Amino acid sequence: MKKWECTVCGYIHEGETPPDECPLCGASSDKFVLLVDNEEPEVKEEAPVVPTEVVVERPGFFARLKDTLHLHPISVHTPSGLLPVAVVFLAIALLLGLDSFAKAAYYNLVFVFVVMPAVLGSGYVDWKARYQKAKTPLFITKITCGLIVLVSVVILAVWPIFEPGVAGGDSPFRHLYFMIALLATAATLLAGHLGGKLVFAGRK
Ligand SMILES: [Zn+2]
Repeated sequence: MKKWECTVCGYIHEGETPPDECPLCGASSDKFVLLVDNEEPEVKEEAPVVPTEVVVERPGFFARLKDTLHLHPISVHTPSGLLPVAVVFLAIALLLGLDSFAKAAYYNLVFVFVVMPAVLGSGYVDWKARYQKAKTPLFITKITCGLIVLVSVVILAVWPIFEPGVAGGDSPFRHLYFMIALLATAATLLAGHLGGKLVFAGRK
């Protein structure tokens, strides 16, 4: 059985030919490279291969630092951890009329707002370095999710500055505010889910 690896996301496909489309990231079949072919017997009698000189370019200090720090998978824990908390707090504020929970939600949202540049910046760097800026459905979805979260969080963090109490009390916009937080949370979880699929591609 032949094994094919998706050069975009690392997905391993077994079969005579590569799939038309990567089931994980959606890359086309020409992005697949042949890995192993167990059916071909090993040929030992061929002329010895003369090793050619291979110049291995050593990555620069910042490139290595970036690789070892894993800034994207670390920074994404802030929105994916705090946004669901903010949604729960906002729901409590809505249902029970407890404005202190709306305030607690707001502090969480401000924290997410502060971290978003790192999330999007590190995501962009990884997309460029690891995935050659592949514009497959998976990456387009992740980028769209990132932008939805950014816009939502900017609205959620800035709106109360101009209209204090917008998320609670008897504000006419409190349900809208809640829905925006819910949207940001859904987009974060979807982006995280796809990121997890990418990271664990090919692993069992
Ligand atoms: Zn793929």
